[in-house]
Amino acid sequence: MDWIATHQALLIGLVWMVVLGPAVGNYACSVVYRLPRGLTPFQRHPFCGHCDTELAPRDLFPILSWCSTQGKCRYCRGPIPAIYTVIEAACGIVFVGYFLQFGISEGFILTASYGVFVIILAAIQWQQGWVSSSVFVYALTCIALMRTLAEGTIYGWAGSAFCMLVLALVWQRVATWVSKKPFAPLDTPWIWWMVLMAAWLSSAQWTLLIVPAVLLVLFRLASPWARPWIMVPMTAVALCLPVVL
Ligand SMILES: [Zn+2]
Repeated sequence: MDWIATHQALLIGLVWMVVLGPAVGNYACSVVYRLPRGLTPFQRHPFCGHCDTELAPRDLFPILSWCSTQGKCRYCRGPIPAIYTVIEAACGIVFVGYFLQFGISEGFILTASYGVFVIILAAIQWQQGWVSSSVFVYALTCIALMRTLAEGTIYGWAGSAFCMLVLALVWQRVATWVSKKPFAPLDTPWIWWMVLMAAWLSSAQWTLLIVPAVLLVLFRLASPWARPWIMVPMTAVALCLPVVL
């Protein structure tokens, strides 16, 4: 009981995060579904993508609603992809993790927002195969604010992101020149993931970029069906960066 009394604030915070994370993840799902379809997230009430029925409050509980209907729509029995529940659970884990690291602070607000944007970015890429430029900019903005607050200058994150962008573009230009493929950096998702990760790092921490670089090489060598799975370790690395630095 003593332990509970001394850690009361922490426990209340954790309970909040376990509720808040998946609830925010629920909104993230609607962004992941609607953004590629040209709909705005708050344009209309949540609806089933199969039968268009507007969802009742009991259909909107993160994770629990999906489990209670075994991943099917309650009205038309159309399948609801598991990725939406994964998004909600991932947002829960991110909120708990960053709360334990930063407490309730500016650092938490910025990293939690960053985490949600990274998850949205990864989910859209998983489903559609491209990087959403607007979500990328939102995630980068969170990193920029976080580092500018800590360092009092924009040179840190801006310099690091810019160096990585130039390096990646040069690399891609050479690779496409050798392989005689068209040079299309905007259609090359890995460039944007590397820029996002580099923006977290000071020049002394750049060696950490070996991790995503090795992942990219490994999955490039893997068989085609395995390649989209790079999103899982890549997202995990991107989400861990604010904690390990
Ligand atoms: Zn339905």
